[in-house]
Amino acid sequence: MNQDRPRTAMSRRRLLAATAAGLGAATVGLAFGTGTATAASLKNGLWCNPAQGYFPSGGHFGADRGGVPHAGQDITGPAGTAIYAARGGTVHAAGENVLSGRTGYGIVLAHGSGSYTYYGHLNALHVSTGESVGAGAWIGDMGSTGNSTGPHLHFEVHSGGLGAITDPVPFMRNRGVDLGGGWPTLNPGASGETVKVIQRLLTSRGADLVIDGDFGTVTTDAVAAFQSDQGLVADGQVGPKTWPKLVRTIDSDSSPGDAVKAAQTALNKHSAGLVVDGDFGSVTRAAVETFQSVNQLVVDGECGPKTWEVLTA
Ligand SMILES: [Zn+2]
Repeated sequence: MNQDRPRTAMSRRRLLAATAAGLGAATVGLAFGTGTATAASLKNGLWCNPAQGYFPSGGHFGADRGGVPHAGQDITGPAGTAIYAARGGTVHAAGENVLSGRTGYGIVLAHGSGSYTYYGHLNALHVSTGESVGAGAWIGDMGSTGNSTGPHLHFEVHSGGLGAITDPVPFMRNRGVDLGGGWPTLNPGASGETVKVIQRLLTSRGADLVIDGDFGTVTTDAVAAFQSDQGLVADGQVGPKTWPKLVRTIDSDSSPGDAVKAAQTALNKHSAGLVVDGDFGSVTRAAVETFQSVNQLVVDGECGPKTWEVLTA
């Protein structure tokens, strides 16, 4: 773990140019162009999820890093994933190794009352020291600078002065933000592609549903019936307890059908562009492998529980 990873000359140049000039999104954002956080990602108007992604194993707060406890929570995603200010404040520092000698290019935001957040391993910085930022402002891009084995955000929370680190996961949860790293929770009334995934998975288990992406009463009843069968609380909500039982491991040996369609629908949510035909052929397998590679998962071409968890996030 934590070996230096060679950077490409190009990403290095882009980074240095961006840093030296202290420029904002207008210049360095061209390579990634991911925009700013939507209002929907802001919780109570104050706090915001800093990055879409999942928790890699060993990336939790306090994890042993060669005798040194890990100071933050890692959130893994594709290089270039937008990083947002978790709360409004002022850029206390932005540059290389501003907080430690290990986390590469990073940003420290000061939120007042001794509260700080830190974002490390970035491959582009969109703010400079002294600048004011609002919650959800696009401040940088996920990367792998510093001691890192692949693109991820190293996110720290300091509460009670710089250096007073605390576990970001419960800290953020107490402020209404789920940092990710787990199965999403979908409630009755939801709509969209993830609901279609749920409907197809239920169909693969015998439910008779129209695949319309609408989490209405018929789908809710089907979820509750499935939960009862599995010995779960039949609340009709698809969350971290229901998902692992609902998904099915599929691969090239899977027979054609709704479970494969569910995976294809989930892959398309991540821009795979597949025909949802229920046939796990070479194109679908390649899409799974690409998804696994981009998301730092084991690349085996099989949709198992971990791949499903990241697919549905
Ligand atoms: Zn880290």
